[in-house]
Amino acid sequence: MFNPATGEVTGLVRLGDAATVDAAVQAAKAAFPAWADTPALRRARVMFRFKELLERHHNELARLITRDHGKVFEDAKGEVVRGIEVVEFATGIPHLLKGEYSEQVSTGTDQYSLRQPLGVCAGITPFNFPCMVPMWMFPLAIAAGNSFVLKPSERDPSPSLRLAELLQEAGLPDGVFNVVQGDKAAVDAILAHPDVAAVSFVGSTPIAEYIHSEGGRRGKRVQALGGAKNHMVVMPDADLDQAVDALIGSAYGSAGERCKAISVAVAVGRIGDELVARLAPRVRALRIGDGMDPASEMGPLVTAAHRAKVAGYVDLGVEEGAQLLVDGRGLRVPGREQGLFLGGCLFDHVEPSMRIYREGIFGPVLSVVRVPDFAAAVDLVNAHEYGNGVAVFTADGNTAREFVRGIRVGMVGVNVPIPVPMAFYSFGGWKRSLFGDTHAYGAEGVRFYTRYKAVMQRWPGSIAKGAEFTMPVAR
Ligand code: NAD
Repeated sequence: MFNPATGEVTGLVRLGDAATVDAAVQAAKAAFPAWADTPALRRARVMFRFKELLERHHNELARLITRDHGKVFEDAKGEVVRGIEVVEFATGIPHLLKGEYSEQVSTGTDQYSLRQPLGVCAGITPFNFPCMVPMWMFPLAIAAGNSFVLKPSERDPSPSLRLAELLQEAGLPDGVFNVVQGDKAAVDAILAHPDVAAVSFVGSTPIAEYIHSEGGRRGKRVQALGGAKNHMVVMPDADLDQAVDALIGSAYGSAGERCKAISVAVAVGRIGDELVARLAPRVRALRIGDGMDPASEMGPLVTAAHRAKVAGYVDLGVEEGAQLLVDGRGLRVPGREQGLFLGGCLFDHVEPSMRIYREGIFGPVLSVVRVPDFAAAVDLVNAHEYGNGVAVFTADGNTAREFVRGIRVGMVGVNVPIPVPMAFYSFGGWKRSLFGDTHAYGAEGVRFYTRYKAVMQRWPGSIAKGAEFTMPVAR
């Protein structure tokens, strides 16, 4: 593994194989019965202690994120906070697991429901949030009584190991949480393992689709969150200063390597010229450098291969005929010559037929598409194959309301560029941004990590004698 800001090797990752995965799954399987039997309140108390430890080690985790991933330190700290919020939600697990109860559904008979853990659950996570995305998954899975095997991204493996140590320190029994480092071989071993009951995945769309079909074929419960192309629609009545601030932060923050990054600005009507006139100098002025330098607003890309891929999309956009207003390809950061930096790039007059519009770039590249009116903006967003996040900037309540109702996207911001749902809501896209039925964390997460059981009961004193041969109905 490398520090992407300096290019230096920071460690070696031993990639797990099928035997490594099997050892982790066996440990999780052995730990499951006692953990599932532990009262939910005691499981919640482990989460409380884990939350305290996360807060105490906040800066240390953020430093690991910046070293492995490259994002700026304050952004890494924010990532840790959004993970802690899911742990906070998971501390409420006794309440979240409460079932339903109906007395006297028939004379002398009551009905109730339970939600019980599934067994061994697995999480496969992407490079861009090495702390937060795993924490979308395992706090709820564990609090609900499951054991867990995490396979983090091989590109930034350190934070997951520190999370495992903190869970142990919080009092989690050995075997309930396990980390396997690895790549496709480890993922395939998880998918093939008969003792893995459920798989949560976050990453790119082709892999999400593969995980969903392979896991589903083998009878596993699967939620697989995929790629994105998030649009921000700027209406002519929007506050332009706010819209430009929002675009700069959401397109170039974390070097565009966020699943909720805005990569398309949709300029509606007459606003296009003024929008790009204000955006271009701001993109040129971005302060780009080592993520540990407090002056940096944007760090490097995660690997040389990813940097080359993103720069390749900029080449492609020029070939396709889009107008490159700001070209960050030549950027050199003094003192960090080996770093994987790419300057902010801004395209105007991007057309929906272009590959730079259709495909996820996952780098600091913003495309401006111009449309004549609101209806064309909504049609554009709805026609895109991805439906992860979207935002509308407007001063008009009715416009916003129509947008929210009609847009085919899972997470919507009204004058909010990156509408990441709070931990007590759920996170997920529509269309080819999510495969499976439930979104991540929140109430949907609890549903995903538990199985529903319906119980009907009566007691000998209320049971009439004699066999019943007809379909039972309420009496
Ligand atoms: P990725 O799909 O390359 O990797 C994700 C995980 O899958 C990693 O753990 C990796 O080891 C594993 N993997 C990679 N190739 C595989 C293969 N051929 N077979 C089996 N497993 C494989 O994604 P990434 O580059 O790490 O992350 C960036 C992508 O994740 C972007 O597309 C981004 O939009 C997406 N993302 C989506 C969300 C969301 O919430 N929808 C959140 C974060 C990132």
